[in-house]
Amino acid sequence: MAGWPGWGGDECPHCGAFTHEGASLTPRLCHGCASSPPPFRARSLFPYEGAAGEAIRAIKYGRRVVPARAMAERLLLDGILGRWTALFPDDFRPVVVPVPILPFKYLRRGFNLPSLLGSALARLAGWRCNLALLERISEKGPQAGLHQRERRGNVEAAFRVARRHRNVPDDLLLIDDVFTSGATAAACANALKRGGARNIVVLTVARAVLHNS
Ligand SMILES: [Zn+2]
Repeated sequence: MAGWPGWGGDECPHCGAFTHEGASLTPRLCHGCASSPPPFRARSLFPYEGAAGEAIRAIKYGRRVVPARAMAERLLLDGILGRWTALFPDDFRPVVVPVPILPFKYLRRGFNLPSLLGSALARLAGWRCNLALLERISEKGPQAGLHQRERRGNVEAAFRVARRHRNVPDDLLLIDDVFTSGATAAACANALKRGGARNIVVLTVARAVLHNS
């Protein structure tokens, strides 16, 4: 993955949506954030299409070895210490929280990519990581193939803060593999905010490209 080109175009300054192919001097908020911004700020490394998209799909579904450390290095060096420094000032020391999967999926796949990635990133950055802060409790069906509104309804109640964690840290870094509609990130962020979190940044390896924004 060392050779995969990161996104070189504009990204929405709030949700990180990949908007225009060419980079402009002052990127604008995407349509979604201009009307109702999500309860987090987010950034992603690669467009979820082409060679990088194929490779990430293969990794996500266990058809290829997970290069968790290499992905975490790209997130840290290209993003956190590179083009996203405005979101990561020196005094921002978040607790890293991966988006969980349902236990039966974990047993079937044997791994959760966001957990592997979150642990590797926390180790590299010197941040704390909490793999068990969020729990995935339900899901009516798979997200793939659903429209944005259906996705939101599907995952809205799917996450909660684990009961043994009464004190949710103020600053959290939520890690996921792919950002599609943002419905999963919003459901997680809402659960964390109900638990007391204040500032949530979402990082994903890949992101669906909005070609009409
Ligand atoms: Zn946006």
